[in-house]
Amino acid sequence: MDLLSTLLNTLVDKGLRRETPTRDEALAVLATGDDDLLDVVAAAGRVRRQWFGRRVKLNYLVNLKSGLCPEDCSYCSQRLGSRAGVLKYTWLKPGEAADAASAGVAGGAKRVCLVASGRGPTDRDVDRVSETIGAIRERHGDVEVCACLGLLSDGQAERLRTAGADAYNHNLNTSEATYKDICTTHEFADRVDTVRKAQGAGLSACSGLIAGMGESDADLVDVVFALRDLDPDSVPVNFLIPFDGTPLAGEWNLTPQRALRILAMVRFVCPDAEVRLAGGRELHLRSLQPLALHLVNSIFLGDYLTSEGQAGKADLEMIADAGFEVEGAQETTLPEHRRDLVAVRQRGAGTELPPNA
Ligand code: SF4
Repeated sequence: MDLLSTLLNTLVDKGLRRETPTRDEALAVLATGDDDLLDVVAAAGRVRRQWFGRRVKLNYLVNLKSGLCPEDCSYCSQRLGSRAGVLKYTWLKPGEAADAASAGVAGGAKRVCLVASGRGPTDRDVDRVSETIGAIRERHGDVEVCACLGLLSDGQAERLRTAGADAYNHNLNTSEATYKDICTTHEFADRVDTVRKAQGAGLSACSGLIAGMGESDADLVDVVFALRDLDPDSVPVNFLIPFDGTPLAGEWNLTPQRALRILAMVRFVCPDAEVRLAGGRELHLRSLQPLALHLVNSIFLGDYLTSEGQAGKADLEMIADAGFEVEGAQETTLPEHRRDLVAVRQRGAGTELPPNA
């Protein structure tokens, strides 16, 4: 057997057993050539189908507060001093946010992600978001609600959980070693701490990365292994949208083939996590987007925070054409062992039980 077949067989076996590959195996996936791309996609696709079948979960972003952030994340169009032409507004009212969420639910979204720019919420902000969660819950009892509000202070995750949030998103974005190159106003450790706070409160953690910021293969493997250690239930993979007016405006480092190799590596390292294709997919995968459905089991429907995505109708057609199916509202995304894990965390919250027991 040749080296590639040996590598892929090993990765598939490990993925089917939820075993972590070695760093060298993960690096080897990123180092494969374009001639081997379909073999890599087919192998990671086997792991994807083992845990998620042919289902695709749809998520819908509602931007509660846009722009005017005091932080300096260099990839972000909402950062301090950004000259990107993005909408700037302060908090949407609960009814307005619920209207926006309803549009996503009508399109088939199973999760609504409530996002606000800023370093982190004040307690008053948590009140506002709690009201918004209530307004969405009144209309859509079974939709999953995820909050993404930045760094959390003590007690805020618990309050969001009590208000009815199911999940909390906070991405690690890049490796610990390169974090200081993309942001100086907070640290990698702050981000890890917030993901842990969310898990400790019984929220399902969502944490992912951004590829294409000039990082090395080793950095990509580092951040994905750091995510694996944190064990979030969902892992969004963003590809940098190099907005004009931000420091990373000139960074065009990705090809569609490289984007697919990155997604395959994430699938092998986090085999049973909801791997979500997130921002930048249209820009970087282009006509290869349908192949990514063999690797990820979740996508955002429609637009992103500050940029337009392809129309929701085109997403649904792409999913159907590629032979996948949209996950129904009543279906459960996570494999059974992972649902048990979330339940244990929820039972652990606020008790003597260690939260991640
Ligand atoms: S904290 Fe969030 S909104 Fe602010 S610059 Fe960083 S990524 Fe953008």
